[in-house]
Amino acid sequence: MVLGQGPGGRKPRAEATSCAQRDLNAWVGSHRSSGEDGDAAPERAQSPAVRVLFLDFDGVLNSDRFDAEAPPAPEGEGWWGPSALDPHALERLRGLVRRTGCHVVVSSTWRLNHSREALSALLGLVVADITPRLHRTPDGVRQTRGDEIRAWLEAHPEVSTWVAVDDDIVDVAFFVRTDAAVGLTDEDVERLVERLGA
Ligand SMILES: [Mg+2]
Repeated sequence: MVLGQGPGGRKPRAEATSCAQRDLNAWVGSHRSSGEDGDAAPERAQSPAVRVLFLDFDGVLNSDRFDAEAPPAPEGEGWWGPSALDPHALERLRGLVRRTGCHVVVSSTWRLNHSREALSALLGLVVADITPRLHRTPDGVRQTRGDEIRAWLEAHPEVSTWVAVDDDIVDVAFFVRTDAAVGLTDEDVERLVERLGA
């Protein structure tokens, strides 16, 4: 049971990705460092700092503890609705974004059944993009969440610093693992801030 997407979910997701790319490009263009103003060759100017957080949902923005303590979801909401997310974890996430100015790129499976706009509404902050969904390679090798993150990064060379947060191990270089029993903690946030270099 999902919210917000019917059988035609693929097309809006593709549009959302395209819009997100434009938004990110616009953001990069508007955040060049002040020293570049008036530069005769802006194309060769130093890139601005673009920080990205690859965000998982389940086990990060909710937890076993939250599931045990939270009131049941309103009838008809289904599993993928706002009441499945822990308000305390969401507030920690928003604090992280405020402190670091990072872009949020959703790597969670929630991206497969919510538009970028719906994800933004759930989080209460702007979701810049989602990672691509990769299936098996032509020779049958299963693609991982780390492969999806790397594919996104290859398409975004403007990114200067990034980190993934997930309760499962993700095979990427920069990664903070949460404990699904408790979700995103203050200590996790500090590790993420340290990596993102606010
Ligand atoms: Mg998870």
